[in-house]
Amino acid sequence: MDSSLLKTLQESIRDIPDYPKPGIMFRDITTLLGNARAFRRSVDELVHPYSGTGIKKVVGIEARGFILGGAMAHQLSCGFVPIRKKGKLPHDTVKIAYSLEYGVDEMELHRDAVHKGEPVLLVDDLIATGGTAEAAVKLLQQLGANVVAACFVIDLPDLGGRKKIEDLGVPVRTLIEYSGH
Ligand code: AMP
Repeated sequence: MDSSLLKTLQESIRDIPDYPKPGIMFRDITTLLGNARAFRRSVDELVHPYSGTGIKKVVGIEARGFILGGAMAHQLSCGFVPIRKKGKLPHDTVKIAYSLEYGVDEMELHRDAVHKGEPVLLVDDLIATGGTAEAAVKLLQQLGANVVAACFVIDLPDLGGRKKIEDLGVPVRTLIEYSGH
């Protein structure tokens, strides 16, 4: 990645200390999304290795993954599929429980949203512990999709999420790293 993109990312991502609780540095991408140049360049960079490779769907994780994923799908001329918190999708779903910092939650995917062997890209704004993305990959693999890569704008490498996803056989692509939580 060229250094001007890194600078654009650094300047457009807002840091909010102690949100949502003390000790967490929240990496706020709403400022990136609101900046035309930063939004376009991030989406271009995320999809760059995959254009012309036959990706059929971009799968976004609720909620910030929807915004990035919709733009990525448009760019790749492919479909978009949402993975949502439980109870939000109206048709027949597959579900998986995943751990949050306190307790567990469930996410769902429409059973007919992806097909066996279909090449898909997964996207979210940020990978921390990797628990959220790991659950999403497992749902997609359960339906037989070929998860070509998992893409994130931000990696928090100290939390080890990348390895969890790579251990499922899925390469991880991220644009910028921040140390700490
Ligand atoms: P994890 O499951 O631990 O990888 O957490 C990833 C999810 O939590 C993503 O959907 C992120 O949007 C959100 N998240 C976790 N940590 C942060 C952080 N420091 N700043 C912003 N979002 C975060």
